[in-house]
Amino acid sequence: MNISYKSTRSDKTITASQAILKGISDEGGLFVPTAFPQIDLENLVHKSYKEICYSILSKYLPEFSENHLKDIIGKAYDKFSVPKVAPVVSFGNRHILELFHGPTLAFKDVALSILPYLIQVSAKLQNVEDKIVILTATSGDTGKAALEGFANVENTKIIVFYPSEGVSSIQKRQMTSQVGNNVYVLGIEGNFDDAQNGVKSIFSNKEFKEKLKSEKIILSSANSINIGRLLPQVVYYFSSYMELVQKGAIALNDSVNFTVPTGNFGDILAGYYAKKMGLPIHKLLCASNSNNVLYDFFKTGTYNKNREFIKTISPSMDILISSNFERMLYHASNNDQELIVNLMEELNTKGSYTIPEEMKSGISELFYGSYSDEESTKKVIGQVYEEYNYVLDPHTAVAYKVCEDYVKNTSDERTNIILSTASPFKFPEAVYESIFKNSDLEVYELIDKLAQKTSLTIPEPIKKLKDSAILHKKVISSDEMKEAVGEILL
Ligand SMILES: *Cc1c(COP(=O)(O)O)cnc(C)c1O
Repeated sequence: MNISYKSTRSDKTITASQAILKGISDEGGLFVPTAFPQIDLENLVHKSYKEICYSILSKYLPEFSENHLKDIIGKAYDKFSVPKVAPVVSFGNRHILELFHGPTLAFKDVALSILPYLIQVSAKLQNVEDKIVILTATSGDTGKAALEGFANVENTKIIVFYPSEGVSSIQKRQMTSQVGNNVYVLGIEGNFDDAQNGVKSIFSNKEFKEKLKSEKIILSSANSINIGRLLPQVVYYFSSYMELVQKGAIALNDSVNFTVPTGNFGDILAGYYAKKMGLPIHKLLCASNSNNVLYDFFKTGTYNKNREFIKTISPSMDILISSNFERMLYHASNNDQELIVNLMEELNTKGSYTIPEEMKSGISELFYGSYSDEESTKKVIGQVYEEYNYVLDPHTAVAYKVCEDYVKNTSDERTNIILSTASPFKFPEAVYESIFKNSDLEVYELIDKLAQKTSLTIPEPIKKLKDSAILHKKVISSDEMKEAVGEILL
């Protein structure tokens, strides 16, 4: 079976390399695979992370040669600080899938360590010699992971937009200190949704894109709207399942639940793809923070972004428009692209839409939505530390709380795997306060003290940050984004 890709909003099919290069389709739709390859589970049990990664990516990327793919998988995951790449830590009856051992300490590294190579090979396959410019909106973690992945990559430039007041102090420092001869980092006055909308509107501006094209520049995206970002994320659903099989925590073919701290719906969508490929997943628990649009959706079938945007201690999930939701709706509607066009038009004009009843029941069979407010999230960080000596970051804590509630409120006794998406050292203020109460120490002293008290080692990338020079200071308004891109490129 040879997989190709199509937009959620039109008929045209294209190849994997074309989809990866384009990022988003011309009419604003997202690319999805036309089929889901089936995976033989037994085959994976004793494979390493890299081998599982190869098994999965090779099925989705038929144009990529075995050598190419193995080479880039090796290069991408050698950058992780643990050989397992994404280890599972178990305590009590909980299993935490640690996705934060990459260069920037968030799960975004899993995909963004490999995406630059996927884009480079795609360009070769398509005989593209133009300069590739990556435009990225970030709620905090994508930006740094993408900068790290693309810095000094030949024939590329990367421009990152982050909400200037909407990320953690460490996330901001990580981005504004980025070195590289091809990197641009701009703060915007606004929130993540403003940044993401700005990027999307640049992508759908035909005239601007043609002007760039005449200068031999093409735009692509490092956001999870790019299918090349999503596919590498499918891998850890399989690898964590296999790790539990190896440990004897589950038997092969037992069904499990995954809880995913969710913002743009990319990470959990990868779990949905894993399920479609044959991984025995019973429920995907979609965990939101106080920006609980998705919780409301799963309850009512209505997606409504018309509400206050709340800044939380889990900033990477402060999102009201979850882009990848469009992909899930597309699959769940049996590929009804007309329905998707209409729903997205309603979202654009009214800020809300309601899905048909029969579609809703299908979705609730697999997804369970819940959320954790600020107080509960802090409480969970404190409790888990006290009980298990394990330090959760605020995003993971949101998921932990949702999983606890699910177990309490249902009779489901299946094994639960909780995705841990960031190192607690990225959010030292919130974590420290949750465990040890308030402190007025400055952030790097706080990090030292957190490490001391919890006996954790400060990750190398955090240590380096303290003495880094701030190289990117510019902040613009969100309606100046296109001009800013023009200034950099033209
Ligand atoms: C991006 C991010 C999330 C949300 O992931 P989505 O794919 O956007 O749903 C959760 N936690 C952390 C730490 C993140 O960086």
